[in-house]
Amino acid sequence: MTRVYIGLGSNIEEPLAQITQALAELAQLPDTQWLAQSRLYRSKAIGPVQPDYINAVALLDTRLTPLALLDALQALEQHHRRVRLEHWGPRTLDLDILLFGDQVIASERLTVPHPFLTQRSFVLYPLADISPALVLPDGTSLQQHLNACAPEGLQVLGD
Ligand code: ATP
Ligand code: CA
Ligand code: CA
Repeated sequence: MTRVYIGLGSNIEEPLAQITQALAELAQLPDTQWLAQSRLYRSKAIGPVQPDYINAVALLDTRLTPLALLDALQALEQHHRRVRLEHWGPRTLDLDILLFGDQVIASERLTVPHPFLTQRSFVLYPLADISPALVLPDGTSLQQHLNACAPEGLQVLGD
């Protein structure tokens, strides 16, 4: 089993419902066990002008290979009727593999750790909800990246 962190995002067609449903669907993936999830967040969009996002991170234990997991996540995005129109444009559901154990992957379809993980507050803060003492495959600590990334435009839902 490998511990994987999945980043979730949605900003159209009832984003809160999209994320809540997607968390339940992640728990149902084959050969996979659900371990934990972060709080839910609201964040300001990057890229084109568009509605705020709802974000969360889930921690799973899986026997799937990285590419099989990516296939399963992309099938879930399709199930949520995601349409790709413009780069970083609005979407019903985005599922990114943030970390896959300690693996470093650089293939055509998959870059792990996720290339922007250390620069995005809407990823770093939810990760810290689950695993505040997390160390990345390159030996850097989540804590040091949090210190360098203010939670600007990031709001815990319900606060
Ligand atoms: P960003 O990478 O900035 O978060 P995005 O999530 O909007 O952008 P998408 O359009 O969802 O990008 O995905 C484009 C491609 O990224 C996917 O088809 C997939 O093959 C590839 N990809 C590379 N690394 C990953 C990863 N770690 N998790 C998910 N997809 C990845
Ligand atoms: Ca993304
Ligand atoms: Ca994506």
